[in-house]
Amino acid sequence: MDISYILNEYAEDRENYYRAVSPPIVQTSNFAFEKVDDLRKSFEDEYSTWLYSRGLNPTVEILRKKLAALDAAEDCLVFNSGAAAIFAAVLANVKSGDHIVSVKGVYTWARKMFEKILPRFSVTHTYIDGTDIENFRNAIQPNTAIFYLESPNSWTFELQDMKAVAELAKQHQIITICDNSFCTPIYQRPIEMGIDMVLQSATKYISGHSDTVAGVLTGSKAMMEKIFNSEYLNIGSGIQPFNAWLLIRGLRTLPARLERITRTTGEVIDYLKKQELVEEVIFPFDESFPQYQLAKTQMSGACGLLTFAIKADNIDAIEKFCNSLRHILMAVSWGGHESLIIPGCAGIKREAFISNSREHRMLRLYVGLEDADYLISDLEQAFKSMKSLS
Ligand SMILES: *Cc1c(COP(=O)(O)O)cnc(C)c1O
Repeated sequence: MDISYILNEYAEDRENYYRAVSPPIVQTSNFAFEKVDDLRKSFEDEYSTWLYSRGLNPTVEILRKKLAALDAAEDCLVFNSGAAAIFAAVLANVKSGDHIVSVKGVYTWARKMFEKILPRFSVTHTYIDGTDIENFRNAIQPNTAIFYLESPNSWTFELQDMKAVAELAKQHQIITICDNSFCTPIYQRPIEMGIDMVLQSATKYISGHSDTVAGVLTGSKAMMEKIFNSEYLNIGSGIQPFNAWLLIRGLRTLPARLERITRTTGEVIDYLKKQELVEEVIFPFDESFPQYQLAKTQMSGACGLLTFAIKADNIDAIEKFCNSLRHILMAVSWGGHESLIIPGCAGIKREAFISNSREHRMLRLYVGLEDADYLISDLEQAFKSMKSLS
């Protein structure tokens, strides 16, 4: 399906609502029935009727169909956060005694689920370096149920060869789940490479305006129905109509925003690479990236997030750089209109800083929709403040 068609028309039933271009927000908790038998049918098969908005809702339905089509998936569920999508996808596919192989460096709340919640139910995990398919093969146990991927991850951008991982998983009846938040389906479609389920934080690029928290999960109709009838309805973390409507609005401009951000990211990277205080820039579409070839093969684009290591022999210099920024905001998240930075050293105690740790000197930058020159001059003055300190 053509992406422009998906974003502008597909799944929109305009004849049903006054031919309004923008769909209505069906802000209702419940739906009424005329006959007992209709209500009975709905109880028997909630997944194909309007019953209650913890389950299905017409505004959410438009969004689900568009997001499934973008991922070339049969079906989709949308959650009230990316973390909820992760939780439901994993929980639905493990039982006590199972084992999960996860790539290391995955999103914080995926990690916390593996480390803190699942062990309470005797579900174990192994973290591997996902850049080598042999590590997946070697980590498989008789009880391995899931390969959990994130390609690229959102700090250092390591990739997994998805076709190879999917093939190996199929040989062992292992379910593959990939977090595709970095690329979105505009730049990468894991299902077309054989991955079973794809998730993304819609808080990031799909929303695009830093005003909604949401998560997307796509996969086969059978799998989505199974999750709907258990985790989705039971945890009650489905997206609500107004937030779904905001995401439909976000989708309209998704390719335009990514295109713009891609261009600006390129200019910011060119600038950073010329700075004497920058030791290294990490970005999957940069030729220096160790998996550059694989990135070019399985992704059609990359933008927004990049990490650079700053040369500094003390933490004060890095803090001075960050505190001096006037326009680039210091905040978590990304994918919105505004550029953001997070220094790795914010995640450690000041006393723990080691200047020869590259990780401690890393800064993750998200490039938003501002002009490149505007961002570069902000970085420039922050480098100057940092230099004035030494
Ligand atoms: C933000 C994020 C998530 C979690 O999404 P929320 O919407 O914040 O719950 C998952 N994976 C990645 C890579 C993320 O950046």
